[in-house]
Amino acid sequence: MTEFAPSNLAAIDAAHHIHPFSDMHKLNASGTRFISRGEGVHIWDSTGKKYLDAFAGLWCVNVGYGRTSIAEAAFRQMQELPYYNSFFGTTTPPATLLAQKIASHTGGRLSHVFFTNSGSEATDTWFRMARVYWKAVGHPLKTMVIARTNGYHGSTVAGASLGGMKWMHEQGNLPIAGVQHIGQPYWYAEGGDLTPEAFGLKVAQELEAKILDLGAENVAAFVAEPIQGAGGVIVPPSTYWPEIRRITEKYNILLVADEVITGFGRLGSWFGHQHFGFEPDLAPIAKGLSSGYLPIGGVMISERVAKVLIEEVGDFHHGFTYSGHPAAAVAALENLRIIEEEGLVERVRDDVGPYLVQALASLRDHELVGETPSVGLMGAVQITADKATRRRFDKPDDIGTQVRNHCLDNGLILRATGDRMLFSPPLIISRSEIDQTVETLRHALDALRDSRTV
Ligand SMILES: *Cc1c(COP(=O)(O)O)cnc(C)c1O
Repeated sequence: MTEFAPSNLAAIDAAHHIHPFSDMHKLNASGTRFISRGEGVHIWDSTGKKYLDAFAGLWCVNVGYGRTSIAEAAFRQMQELPYYNSFFGTTTPPATLLAQKIASHTGGRLSHVFFTNSGSEATDTWFRMARVYWKAVGHPLKTMVIARTNGYHGSTVAGASLGGMKWMHEQGNLPIAGVQHIGQPYWYAEGGDLTPEAFGLKVAQELEAKILDLGAENVAAFVAEPIQGAGGVIVPPSTYWPEIRRITEKYNILLVADEVITGFGRLGSWFGHQHFGFEPDLAPIAKGLSSGYLPIGGVMISERVAKVLIEEVGDFHHGFTYSGHPAAAVAALENLRIIEEEGLVERVRDDVGPYLVQALASLRDHELVGETPSVGLMGAVQITADKATRRRFDKPDDIGTQVRNHCLDNGLILRATGDRMLFSPPLIISRSEIDQTVETLRHALDALRDSRTV
């Protein structure tokens, strides 16, 4: 094992390293945690403390840690050919075979793939691609893109603009021109007296109103995650997606499904749009594509768009030095082979997914638990101050952080978005590990209740 010995690693980190999405002032004061090893659903920090990672890194380690066959595949590829590009008339066999493999899991309907190194780059890629598509088919004015409040599409300029996080927009003068937002299908917080179904229709129809407002002749695309991830695992009511698809078809707008989290088995289907029964025109992917073993992402492209790119556009002036990087591509191929061979998608759909639904639902008797939405292995526990009125505590972030820290102290990694506790474990998690997760969370909720009543 590699030995990173210096005992003053935290001091070195504070002196030289700015972390993503981290309050560096606070972190440098408390000292960062170093994660040094992983196996299955567990990771260990540099002090030897063991954690059950019920968040799969950042929603990505779908096949779990410690898969030596992925490491070996990358090692062999790097010995043979560590790098070559896909620009100017060449590519490498792994990139080609990976594109074919990905398309095969969409039933061939998303027939082509453009590779990137991350989900954020995938966002920037489809953003340009959608505009290029409309120009090529004679609608150069169709350039506006509609996205949602509290959506997440990455941290590049286009990603952060399309995302609906105000606190991200505040840094860097975002969103850029040409991006508009509509509401999110977050019934628990925003549904008022409506039923979830009525609320789902209402927020979907905000898309229609926005299109009419902007003029359909100016709108290129609508983007949404099948289930919002970073926004808090917001599972839309059943009425939502059919209405969205109806509207994008009626006004001839490209529908972009951001599958960066919901792809590759997370929902018990290969892709989130399959779970919800709609067909997107473009779909960015990353995370579970390689289970995080090496960075790789891409955009899945429907035949409709691919045909225009190939026959009308010809040269799309866009690409990354590492698009389709051969080592990342073989890691992804081996990752997908594992998912297929071990039947992980079916396992999530038929076994551990339904089990997680039940396990989370068992928390609903807790006085602080509002709802526990979950699909496949993507779930949330909504903390509430009053179950009857769905009232939320004043400082939701503090509430979530307190519960998360309690779990962390007890060897469980969960994420908190505001007052929602999020689950996204590796797809190999066992039933007893799910039980253990839920039990630790119950203790954390008890501790929260007790701390508020004294
Ligand atoms: C993580 C994420 C992204 C961004 O991917 P990166 O690889 O971090 O750039 C985009 N969309 C969604 C839905 C994500 O969860």
